[in-house]
Amino acid sequence: MQHADIAIVGGGIVGLTLAAALKDAPCRIAIINKGLIDQPLGDKPGARVSAINQANISALKKADVWQHIDASRANPYNAMHVWDKDSFGDIHFAGNDTGGELESDTLGVIIENLALVNGLAHSVLKQDNVVVIDTTIERVLSSSQQNMLMLENGDALSCRLLVGADGANSFVRKQANFPITFRDYEHTAIVANIRTQQPHENVARQAFTPTGPLALLPMRDPNVCSIVWSQTPDAAKTLQGYSDSEFCNALVAASNNALGPVSLETSRTAFPLTMRYAREWAKDGIVLVGDAAHTIHPLAGQGANLGMQDALALAALLGTLLEEQKDIGQLRYLRPYERARKTEAMKMIAAMDGFKFLFDGNDPLKKLIRGVGLAATDKLSAVKQAFVNHAMGL
Ligand SMILES: Cc1cc2nc3c(=O)[nH]c(=O)nc-3n(C[C@H](O)[C@H](O)[C@H](O)COP(=O)(O)OP(=O)(O)OC[C@H]3O[C@@H](n4cnc5c(N)ncnc54)[C@H](O)[C@@H]3O)c2cc1C
Repeated sequence: MQHADIAIVGGGIVGLTLAAALKDAPCRIAIINKGLIDQPLGDKPGARVSAINQANISALKKADVWQHIDASRANPYNAMHVWDKDSFGDIHFAGNDTGGELESDTLGVIIENLALVNGLAHSVLKQDNVVVIDTTIERVLSSSQQNMLMLENGDALSCRLLVGADGANSFVRKQANFPITFRDYEHTAIVANIRTQQPHENVARQAFTPTGPLALLPMRDPNVCSIVWSQTPDAAKTLQGYSDSEFCNALVAASNNALGPVSLETSRTAFPLTMRYAREWAKDGIVLVGDAAHTIHPLAGQGANLGMQDALALAALLGTLLEEQKDIGQLRYLRPYERARKTEAMKMIAAMDGFKFLFDGNDPLKKLIRGVGLAATDKLSAVKQAFVNHAMGL
């Protein structure tokens, strides 16, 4: 039987961010992940991407991870354009709207999820305090002093702290009986890469349509965007039934022809969207991070950003506890993490609910409010600065 001080179940963006942030911590870490944590990137850019904000980019640089990321699979963007398709509402953000908070004009980076995971994995695999186990966990037996993990490969692993970083359908969360609140967003996100006739000029665009938002995220190729098109389930079903050219025509119409005619670079994948919020994130010996603790609507591109901030906050707390030789498994020591991060997640869930409510449908009053609201925010530099700084995690 093996032993680790910290067992992280899940080697995705969040689990690996936690391990990387603990690189100098005096502890033994085991990462348990279904499949290899570093997988080869395809020749063509993948359609699963994330807009990673400045706060997390800085943290990855500080943890010496950033240099391991394949720069050809990440694209900095320096402006955002958001508009309401059916009203006069329109807003532009640029690097200088942060009030000098940024080192450069870059607002963030659109990065293929796999490229980010690979960069993290290359860094983590070099750490002396980490072992990676390619398997799944089948059972957790917890006592007041330790957790015993029964693994699918037949081994067992004991640990003082078990971290559930195993995504939206977290096995750890279920095994530990953390209660969760969940709600169907009644949106399905269609994800694909498209080639555009006009160059994107490193601008992230989002059009709010009555049936849901359409994001056009600028990729490394100046004429390729990754799209996240969230639609009501019926509208998404109709779109998925379209031929490629019908789909592209609908997309051009939904984006007000923002980048001219488009063609598909990848197949389209649909993700039903659910809000999940674990009502407890910690108990003696067990703690949750990332999608295991919360899932939110992708309309503001904040899910992975939020999860990475969970990981960084937990790493900072564990680093201090280990330095002070305190018991990292005790709930009373884990509480500050739980309190702080639950509050941030709740604020983000509420913000996403507010945006979704305001931008859904054709209600004339809502149309007026969003038209006036976007136009006014565009003019009020202090409000705009607050918005953009929040989105950048600054
Ligand atoms: C359409 C869409 C667009 C999005 N766009 C953005 C964006 O622009 N910006 C942003 O910040 N966020 C975005 N998000 C959210 C983001 O993708 C997620 O929040 C993020 O990937 C969650 O990372 P995670 O590491 O918590 O979970 P996951 O990525 O789900 O990783 C979990 C890991 O755990 C492993 N695992 C699961 N179960 C077990 C088990 N039993 N045993 C061992 N291993 C296990 C899995 O193999 C996986 O490696 C988007 C989400 C969607 C759906």
